[in-house]
Amino acid sequence: MNRYGKVVLVGAGPGDPELLTLKAVRVLGTADVVLVDELVSRACLAHVRPGARIIEVGKRGGCRSTPQAFIERLLVRYARQGKNVVRLKGGDPFVFGRGGEELEALRVQGIHTEVIPGITAGTAVPAAFGIPVTHRGLARGVTFLTGHTQDGSEPDWVALVRSGTTLVIYMGLKNLKRIVAGLKGAGMDLATPACLVENGTLASQKHCVATVGTLSATGFTGPALIVIGDVVRLAHGAANQIKARAA
Ligand code: SAH
Repeated sequence: MNRYGKVVLVGAGPGDPELLTLKAVRVLGTADVVLVDELVSRACLAHVRPGARIIEVGKRGGCRSTPQAFIERLLVRYARQGKNVVRLKGGDPFVFGRGGEELEALRVQGIHTEVIPGITAGTAVPAAFGIPVTHRGLARGVTFLTGHTQDGSEPDWVALVRSGTTLVIYMGLKNLKRIVAGLKGAGMDLATPACLVENGTLASQKHCVATVGTLSATGFTGPALIVIGDVVRLAHGAANQIKARAA
C-alpha cells in the first residue's frame, strides 16, 4: 500500500489565467502544496484552496533561479509526507518546461505522478495575435525550437529553412542576432515575415511585426516568442507593419 501523496504536473497555459484548463483548476483546488514557476500568472493561484502552501520557484533565463535538483527534492519530500502536490508550470509542462526531467526524478523515487497538459505559448500566443501556425497554402507544418541551449550549440538551420515550416522560437530574444545570422547563412529570404511577441495573451502584450531582416529585439525584455514564416502576414494589422519596416 503506497501511502505517499502524488505529484501532478500541471500546465498553466501561456499567461491569460482564463486559458487554464478546467482540470487544472480542479486539481489546484485540492492541492496541499503548490510549487509554482515564475512565468505562471499569479491570478492562476486564485484557484488554490486557502491554507494550501504556495512555494515560488522562480527560474527565468539569466536571473536568480532555484536549482532544478532542489525543486525535484522538494517535490519528493512533500509527496513522501503524504501531501497532494501540484507542480504548476507555464504553458505545457512538457514543452521546454523540464517537466520530463521532473517526471523521471519522481518515478525513480516511486512517487505516483500525473500530468495535466497546458496550452503552450508556441501555439496560443501566435493564435491570440491572429497567426495560425499552420495554414493551407502558407505553411504545411510548424517547428518549435529553443533559441537558447545550455551548450550553445546551433540547430540545423539549413534543414529548418528547407522544411518550409513556420518556425516558432522559444527563449530566442537574447539570441535574436545569432538566430537571424543562422537563417541568413542557411539561405532564408530576409523578406520572410517575422514577429516577436512579448507577454502574449496578457494585457501587457507587446509585439514587433517585421521581416527576418528587420526584426529587432530592442525594448523587449521577455518572455517572448519569435515567429517566422509567411503566416505572420495574417497577424492582426500585420500587412502594413511588414510593408512599413521593409520600406
Ligand atoms: N512550457 C512553456 C515554455 C517554457 S520556456 C510553454 O509551453 O509555453 C519559456 C519561454 O516560453 C519564454 O522564454 C518565451 O519564449 C515563451 N513564452 C512563455 N509564455 C509566453 C508568453 N506569454 N508570451 C510570449 N512568450 C512566452
